[in-house]
Amino acid sequence: MKLHEYQSKTIFSKYGIPIPKGRVAATAHEARQIAEELGGRVVIKSQVLVGGRGKAGGVKLAKDPAEAEQFATQILGMEIKGLPVRKVLVDEASAIEQEIYFAITNDRAAKKPVMIASAAGGIDIEEVAAKTPEKIVKLHIDPLLGLREYQARDVAVAIDLPREQMKDFVKIAMGLWEVYKATDATLAEINPLVITKDKKLVALDGKMMIDDSALFRHPELNEMRDTDEDAPAEIEARKYGLSFIKLDGDIGCMVNGAGLAMTSMDVIKLFGGEPANFLDVGGGAPADKVAAAMRIILTDPNVKAVLFNIFGGITRCDEVARGILTAMDEVKPKVPMVVRLVGTNAEEGRKLLENANMITAETLADAAKKSVEAARQGK
Ligand code: GDP
Ligand code: MN
Repeated sequence: MKLHEYQSKTIFSKYGIPIPKGRVAATAHEARQIAEELGGRVVIKSQVLVGGRGKAGGVKLAKDPAEAEQFATQILGMEIKGLPVRKVLVDEASAIEQEIYFAITNDRAAKKPVMIASAAGGIDIEEVAAKTPEKIVKLHIDPLLGLREYQARDVAVAIDLPREQMKDFVKIAMGLWEVYKATDATLAEINPLVITKDKKLVALDGKMMIDDSALFRHPELNEMRDTDEDAPAEIEARKYGLSFIKLDGDIGCMVNGAGLAMTSMDVIKLFGGEPANFLDVGGGAPADKVAAAMRIILTDPNVKAVLFNIFGGITRCDEVARGILTAMDEVKPKVPMVVRLVGTNAEEGRKLLENANMITAETLADAAKKSVEAARQGK
């Protein structure tokens, strides 16, 4: 789950990371009032869950409250990368001397959190990473020991941070590590972390991603969820407790068990097909869940065939088959369906589906081949 800039910065601030004074507004009038309260120049910032707002015209410096209102009107009427702007953050403007990139994220390959920093922060950080990767410094954090102050100092030295800012930088790094740990984040990013003209370090922007699997123990974070960014199918899937990820292929997949789902996708690819989604209906797979899964898969217009791969262990195949039939009644799919049922009550399950015009398969390879073929014919 992604958090908005204003939400991330509020959390940062609780952990001692300096942020600009400011508040969020839903109307241009409110934005003007906040600008009046703050006095002086302000920056009006679109709150949408995508990066690159600055380049898209979603971040603007206003010299007075009247201009703040005018920019807020503009920005609140914008769509950025397909997302409507519903709120703006009105922050006291900072006079910037240098923009630093600083983040903590998860390095899956190393199985450790990693600190990433660059003296060339700001809106072109992706270009810096692509063209001059030597300007990006990375340092792993031992998850058991946590971030050590000497490591934060090492990073500061590696990005040539002026000595004057060393102490503040170490405090911010330790604070961000605390944020990362306490919220079960997968990303806590400050870009830019600026050195102001009066030599202060301030987190001007903030971005956080929280591990969805840890949200159960952070109800206060879960409440911050903004579903604007999510594909409607993913919202629907969450409602039914289905693990669903939309992909770009044309073979819909409905599988019980995450490992089996991954394997099914691999085997589809092996036979030259492309999966349209990852979907784990989970154990049990009662009829209403199967029906919801089918609806979700079939709302994707790219789907030209659906592969059901069900292993009946705890889940009984006849129960799943009944679920499929109920769902077929309701959804009336127009694309071919390939089913492989194995395990508890597979025979009963297969019999139930025999009359339903479904293509049955004995092995996973067979099922994958048949669905690749069916998808090709459907094009
Ligand atoms: P992003 O484009 O979505 O990452 O949005 P940011 O919040 O990072 O803002 C983009 C850029 O706008 C920053 O890199 C700064 O150069 C500039 N900017 C943001 N806030 C201020 C500010 O208070 N003062 C000045 N001078 N520039 C700012
Ligand atoms: Mn930024």
